[in-house]
Amino acid sequence: MTNKTAITPNARLIEVFSAIQGEGLNVGTRQIFIRFALCDLRCHFCDSSHTWDAPDNCRIERSPGLRDFEIYSNPVPLSMLVEWIERQNVPGLHDSISLTGGEPLLHTPFLIQFLPKVRLVTGLPIYLESGGHRPEQLAMILPYLDSVGMDFKLPSTSGESHWQEHEKFIQLCYNAHLEVFVKIIVSQKTDPIELERSALLVAAVSPEIPVFLQPVTPIESSPTPVLAPSPHQVLNWQALMKQFVKHVRVVPQTHKMLNQL
Ligand code: SF4
Repeated sequence: MTNKTAITPNARLIEVFSAIQGEGLNVGTRQIFIRFALCDLRCHFCDSSHTWDAPDNCRIERSPGLRDFEIYSNPVPLSMLVEWIERQNVPGLHDSISLTGGEPLLHTPFLIQFLPKVRLVTGLPIYLESGGHRPEQLAMILPYLDSVGMDFKLPSTSGESHWQEHEKFIQLCYNAHLEVFVKIIVSQKTDPIELERSALLVAAVSPEIPVFLQPVTPIESSPTPVLAPSPHQVLNWQALMKQFVKHVRVVPQTHKMLNQL
């Protein structure tokens, strides 16, 4: 008889905390955020470059919203993360759990085991934020997700190009009847031809999928300045995209206005 020892999966985390979602379809709702370390993209506008590599430690909020962080070593065992989420889960406070990063889908083997457990103990819906470039990994965790926000990476704005992967990604979410929306970060350098192409791509899956144009929050420290688009640009781009998709909303990062994390 072979003695198979079950491998307990670990995650590399940045932080866990409770906050108000500042972007996309869930804006204004209260979520437990699990920010995973590691990202394989290098977007020009990235405001989370501290997530690109796994740090030695992560910070875990003790009481929801109090920012009373405790420091733990990475990697983190699954059972510990479940405990921390249970501790955050004050009855009635949270609308959902947000998987964010970095790129959470780089933790797919962990998520396959973690998500059913955390759903069971909290009963909260699970929301995934992803760069939308790893449809194969998405397919493995689809049954455990309730909603997905996919960042559409325009080459002119992000420096990344993942058209085919984005198409597969949105189609998978739509076929699985998940609540899905697309977020597109726009800057002064955004190319309207790419916006039109992205609108057509979304519309080919369904013109009902909401699209959020998110004017970039200027990054002053960047060697190549990333500047917010002008009001004129944003008005034109919304009109352009609405020829193809029904719901195009322009929403900046509201959590930064609230001075939140
Ligand atoms: S996908 Fe997100 S975390 Fe990764 S580089 Fe782009 S903006 Fe930064």
